Amino acid sequence: MKKSDNPIFVTQPDLPEIQEFIPYLEQIWDNKILTNNGPFHRQLEKELANFLNVPYISLFTNGTLALVTALQVLRITGEVITTPYSFVATTHSLWWNNIKPVFVDIEPKFCNLDPEKIEAAITPKTTAILPVHVYGNPCEVERIQEIADIYGLKVIYDAAHAFGVRYKRQSILNYGDLSILSFHATKVFNTMEGGAIICHDAATKQRIDYLKNFGFAGETTVMAPGINSKMNEMQAALGLLQLKHFEKNILKREIILKKYREALSVIKGISYLEEKVNIKYNYSYCPIFVDEKELGITRDQLYEKLKENNIFGRRYFYPLISEFPMYKGLDSSQAANLSEAHKIANSVICLPIYPSMDLDIIEQISHIINKK
Ligand SMILES: *Cc1c(COP(=O)(O)O)cnc(C)c1O
Repeated sequence: MKKSDNPIFVTQPDLPEIQEFIPYLEQIWDNKILTNNGPFHRQLEKELANFLNVPYISLFTNGTLALVTALQVLRITGEVITTPYSFVATTHSLWWNNIKPVFVDIEPKFCNLDPEKIEAAITPKTTAILPVHVYGNPCEVERIQEIADIYGLKVIYDAAHAFGVRYKRQSILNYGDLSILSFHATKVFNTMEGGAIICHDAATKQRIDYLKNFGFAGETTVMAPGINSKMNEMQAALGLLQLKHFEKNILKREIILKKYREALSVIKGISYLEEKVNIKYNYSYCPIFVDEKELGITRDQLYEKLKENNIFGRRYFYPLISEFPMYKGLDSSQAANLSEAHKIANSVICLPIYPSMDLDIIEQISHIINKK
């Protein structure tokens, strides 16, 4: 089997044909509205709310600022329970709000925050739970809500991976008090950079929209030290176009992921996440987990081996967020038993998956793994 001539990366951003985008640009140039809730921005909010089946959505210039703002709109303070197994922006959003992250271990089956370990981490200062639907796999939303209701905590989901995911036939984004999306280039739905907050009522959306525009609640009223995190018209226009191609792209991803599973199921020492019934997936990532004893080589050896063959997987999420210098010293990082998260972080590789990916790559990869 020959080595791939071009480097194959973990993802390749989906883009429409450039010709399709030109008329949108012409419209922006004609009407000279570039940002501040322009016509494409309003149209994208409307179309996304319909498409995702959510009541209210506020667009942002990126997902990280959406997370930061979500914590502010609910006036979250003190301590927040979160997962160490995520992209670092999840915890950074707490840091930017002067909130102490309290890391709780994950359950190994779907790599999400383990609800059974949340209660032990609650203190009088706890105000919220910030779980992540890792790889687009829904958290145990009912159990998390039950705990939040008992202790009077807010729940904010980092749903950066979960665009389009449905659980029990309804959008996963409707669970919790707020959900946050990212439309970064690497995500299943991208506006180059972009993000959003999903909320349940008009009053909350109004306050989110103030906060993303410096806190302006009218010409002369500033309600809080808001940030500037507005989505611009180019991003919104691209979003409108991307939305037209979304379902088709997810179908292609599904074919790729199923083919991976078929190829990998016969390899001893490699495991992957199972699908659950009553979930509509978006097939955003293809994580595999290396059992080094069974496979005979370590995760990092396999990762390097793939790289030598021009296949650039990524170790999402390694290291754990609790291992980075700014969080490592926290007593909550030191004391917590994060053993499941460590095990997963030390065994994971995310393999390339994107709609235009050549299916031959899967064969190449399983060949490389088999040969070791
Ligand atoms: C991508 C991502 C973010 C950050 O979103 P940006 O749009 O890149 O700012 C936050 N959380 C998770 C889990 C992510 O994967």
